[in-house]
Amino acid sequence: MKYKVYFAIFLLSVFVIGLTLYYSQQEIKLITQQKAKEIYELRNKEFSLMLKNKKDFLNAFAKFISSSDIVINAFLENNRTKLINFVKPLYTSLHEKDLLEEIHFFKRPATSFVNFANLKVFNIDVSKARADILWVSTSFQPSTHFYICRLYPGLRATYPIIYKDRLLGSVSFGLHIKVFKNMFEKLNAKGVSIYLNDKFLKKFLLPKKYLFFKDLPLINGYRIIGTPYLIEAAPGYEIKNNLVYTKIKIVDFFNETIGYIVIKDDISKTINVLKNYMKNKMSIEIFSYITIIAILFLLFIWIFNKINEMKKILSLIKNQQFDKLPPKQKEKDELDSFRNSLLDVAQTIKTYISLLTQKVEDYSQKAYKDGLTNIFNRRFLKEKAHELFLKYQLSDTQVGIIMLDIDDFKKINDTYGHDVGDMVLIRLTEEIKKHIRKDDFFIRYGGEEFLLILPNSNIQTTYTIAEKIREAIQNLKIKAGDKTISFTISLGISEIRKTDKNLFEAIKRADEKLYKAKRNGKNRVEF
Ligand code: GH3
Ligand code: MG
Ligand code: MG
Repeated sequence: MKYKVYFAIFLLSVFVIGLTLYYSQQEIKLITQQKAKEIYELRNKEFSLMLKNKKDFLNAFAKFISSSDIVINAFLENNRTKLINFVKPLYTSLHEKDLLEEIHFFKRPATSFVNFANLKVFNIDVSKARADILWVSTSFQPSTHFYICRLYPGLRATYPIIYKDRLLGSVSFGLHIKVFKNMFEKLNAKGVSIYLNDKFLKKFLLPKKYLFFKDLPLINGYRIIGTPYLIEAAPGYEIKNNLVYTKIKIVDFFNETIGYIVIKDDISKTINVLKNYMKNKMSIEIFSYITIIAILFLLFIWIFNKINEMKKILSLIKNQQFDKLPPKQKEKDELDSFRNSLLDVAQTIKTYISLLTQKVEDYSQKAYKDGLTNIFNRRFLKEKAHELFLKYQLSDTQVGIIMLDIDDFKKINDTYGHDVGDMVLIRLTEEIKKHIRKDDFFIRYGGEEFLLILPNSNIQTTYTIAEKIREAIQNLKIKAGDKTISFTISLGISEIRKTDKNLFEAIKRADEKLYKAKRNGKNRVEF
């Protein structure tokens, strides 16, 4: 039993600690996920803003340039020099600041006219490489898209150049895709890499321009500008070792995914703070649990010890080693009260056993017998009253008491002499013996005063017996020589009451009734 409880408490502790660890781990996971999602959403928002900003910027320039008179005249006159001279200062200043990669003028529908990224090459038909130029030329609408063209992958804003409802050509403003990488790096990213689909790079870039990408690391069909990360090329986010990788999909004019901008963010600081917090929280929790378990444990030990002591008491009772029983104690709780009750029970059992084992001969000892009548004497009553009283209390039976006294005995003595008086006493006891049972006690209480203790007799039965005795004595004729002596007795009866503290209280009541009988005229029973 004891070890079972120890084991249960041990298991409980392990379980509680395990559960606490598990839940804090889950909570860290959940918060990490939450944090990663927040970062992912923030980076996407930043990208949308960057993209909108860049598109607005490119569109504004493209719109301004495409509607400029000088540009239109240069187109009408087919004058490259004029165009170059007019646009070059703008291009140079923007290019130097990395705000622009190229400005490229096309004659309709898609023939390179002036390309500030490579002024030497012109008059080339790019309709195969630049579907956006063709689209602008036919729809007369501007287009802003990511695009991998012959020279570099980037964002392009293309505007039609229209003169008197006639399309002269178009102008395309281009921004290298790496600009976005630079911008994210300025926004405190831990790292930014651009993943570009190698198939498209190979397909659209000039072989000379592709050479640059050919040297870049290739993972799962993607060329990587920047550090290659072992991540899956798909939109969304990934968490690895407290690093969050946000992957923003880049779609081109054909709605093809040409790659991803991958932004690496470090959340280890946040996670460490969280872990520390969880550690503290967990320590407090585990400490509380262990404290509770320890209190339970101590409580158990306390109860166990008390129960053990009671087991010991019970064992002592069982083995009748009453002298080894501990003393009663002040009751501080229910268990103490239970312990004291056990000791009370032990005391009762002890008395009961001592009564049961008492030798019957004890009662028949000579010392307890009256020399004249051979019934119990006063000494017997004095020594055994307590024992008898306890015995009757334990057996829970009703016990009747009769006190009787010979009426005017003095006269008998005086008339017939002391010897006759003695004989009367003997005959009286012999007669009374006929009317009582084996378990009844017949005691010579005084000179000519007798006491009867009648177990299993209620007051009614006691009265009946007393009356029978009275009648029998009244009818008794004692021969003394030639004379016949008759006499009467008076009787008082009572019973042992639950409230009595000893046998003498009941005897006293019977005695009082006896004197009542004397007062009321003798030869009668009073109760
Ligand atoms: P009452 O009806 O009031 O009891 O009157 P009573 O004469 O019986 O009572 P009382 O107490 O006046 O007298 C009792 C007498 O009993 C006195 C005493 O000498 C006598 N007596 C006491 N013991 C013995 C005994 O052992 N043998 C004899 N023969 N007489 C005894
Ligand atoms: Mg008398
Ligand atoms: Mg008397």
